[in-house]
Amino acid sequence: MTYMNEISPETICVQGSGDRDDKYGAISSPVYFSATYAHPALGETTGYAYSRVDNPTRDELQKTVAALEKGTDALAFSTGMAAITAVFELFGAGAHFVATDDVYGGSVRLWEHLGRRFGLRVSSVDTTDLSQLEAAITPETRAVFLETPSNPTMKVTDIKGAAEIAKRHGCLLIVDNTFLSPYFQQPLTLGADIVIHSGTKYLGGHNDALAGFTVVRDEELSEKLKLIYKTTGACLSPMDSFLTLRGIKTLALRMEQHQKNALELALWLREHPCVSEVYYIGLPDRPDKAVIDSQCSGYGGMISFRVDSPETAVKLLKEVKLIRFAESLGGVESLLTYPYKQTHAEVPEELRERLGVDDTLLRLSVGIENVKDLTADLEQAFKAASGLL
Ligand code: PLP
Repeated sequence: MTYMNEISPETICVQGSGDRDDKYGAISSPVYFSATYAHPALGETTGYAYSRVDNPTRDELQKTVAALEKGTDALAFSTGMAAITAVFELFGAGAHFVATDDVYGGSVRLWEHLGRRFGLRVSSVDTTDLSQLEAAITPETRAVFLETPSNPTMKVTDIKGAAEIAKRHGCLLIVDNTFLSPYFQQPLTLGADIVIHSGTKYLGGHNDALAGFTVVRDEELSEKLKLIYKTTGACLSPMDSFLTLRGIKTLALRMEQHQKNALELALWLREHPCVSEVYYIGLPDRPDKAVIDSQCSGYGGMISFRVDSPETAVKLLKEVKLIRFAESLGGVESLLTYPYKQTHAEVPEELRERLGVDDTLLRLSVGIENVKDLTADLEQAFKAASGLL
């Protein structure tokens, strides 16, 4: 039994692709730690040959993620960066891309450092302004790369509008959907051609496994990505496939709790005297609320906020106790990050300045703890930072 679009996301999360282990009736997906598979005879196959190409546990994960994103095919990579690299490998030397200016620093590092060797050129623009996006497209442009909400300033790009522009110019639309997960946003249904995830984040959800995904709904693109995948070999291990599948079982519940906590914390932070700005897409008075509500069914758990001085920012990182000062996001534990020195350290200074990614900006991945404890922790950290404790 394989179901696709007619079943609810909550059910897909729990039941997976719908393919069952009929031999033993296992409820939890078995983990196949086999690197290779025997063939019944020459020209015959069990469907599996070698785990770099196909593995039953990874297949179940891929089908589950494809179903959640309403795609036809997903590939599970060893990390999100491996997935992003594979997508860039689709294009020939000298290709040009238009990208959201405010993306994960690792993506910028990929095109600023490795990409340059292959003549890859990227124009970073504010894609929330579709006229800027369109103006940056040249005859050499092969794809538009969006991250929405963006990282770390939570800008939202109109995916449908961007897809129309990309199509008009014969470009692919690629969307990094890590921040909202397929539970709250499904870019393929809005016209995107390729969705990317760092599965390390909300999909896995427990800060215990690295993973990455590409999801498509076009057969030709799928075949091209599979060729890159099996050739370059950055595939997800059976154990990490299992951990990610297990994480996905509670994706719906977690996402609801992440966003409930995040809204409460965003409103609380907004009232704090040491905080000058809060960036959260769930804030009811956002000027781009119409776009947000037209393409997202929820707002997720990512908040950034600006404090009154770099000293306060640095002290907060030291003083939080329950919330940990660590990179990454999307796990059940709340994590506080300093993009200026961490995720965005290698983004060119001029671009960081333009984006406002400076030494007063902090990013909080709100976990699913009791929000009262999170607020109390921030309160004591602010007091300690200002010398009141
Ligand atoms: N995309 C986004 C939005 C991310 O935040 C990250 C990592 O933080 C990545 C991609 C890269 O994923 P990974 O760390 O799994 O390689």
